[in-house]
Amino acid sequence: MKLKTLSAILGNIRMHRWGKCIVCGKPTIFVCTDKSSLRNSMECLLCRSSSRNRHVAQTLLTEVAREGRSLNDLRNKSRLAIYNTDRGGGLSRVLVGMSNYTCSGFFPEITPGTMVEPGVYCQDLERLSFQDASFDVVITEDVLEHVRHYQTALEEIHRVLKPGGCHIFTVPFFFDRPTLVRVDTTGEADVNLLPPEYHGDSIRGRILAYRTLGFDLFGLLKSIGFETRVRVSCFADQKLGIFDSSVFFSWKVG
Ligand SMILES: [Zn+2]
Repeated sequence: MKLKTLSAILGNIRMHRWGKCIVCGKPTIFVCTDKSSLRNSMECLLCRSSSRNRHVAQTLLTEVAREGRSLNDLRNKSRLAIYNTDRGGGLSRVLVGMSNYTCSGFFPEITPGTMVEPGVYCQDLERLSFQDASFDVVITEDVLEHVRHYQTALEEIHRVLKPGGCHIFTVPFFFDRPTLVRVDTTGEADVNLLPPEYHGDSIRGRILAYRTLGFDLFGLLKSIGFETRVRVSCFADQKLGIFDSSVFFSWKVG
């Protein structure tokens, strides 16, 4: 364990919580490693899922699968075809190996569409290599703000979903404002309109945020052919390790 993480654990000792993890399904302690961002923190001591991971898992279990008390449970029961763009995250650590589970990462040096290990692909969200109507569920966690043309990515996600399929996603979001464009991507080269904002990334270290999405996203999703709802975490969700979080889920109409 890194010294910085150990010091955060000791420094935030009053923030840690008991509960039952909806990802691994076990009683555990949710460890606060970053009190400035509970949604990306509150790590399950056993499976290392974050609060954000668990909120996505809860949405998958209650809104789509409607079976299983935890993701671990779902893994053993479900026949859903799931595609998750986060190959190394808290959900993939449980779901890799489940039948019909596919995940991906973006590796600049590898041709998109290449399988890098069984069930794991290099994918460019703007040009997915999957056939039309391949999946019941697509999951993206804090990805859309980093895709150069996110409208194209949403169209691609719509294409690879089966009719009635669901895109479950998280994204930094303004509920009270329109999208804040940080980088102009209309030309060949990026043009920064604001000081660059970078977010942590497991593969590249840090990646540029092109925008912070706002309420105009709902109109865009509707025009593509999605019906969208949002789950906002409540006090009772804390027992499942879900803190200060929102998850979008968009059904492919028709
Ligand atoms: Zn867990």
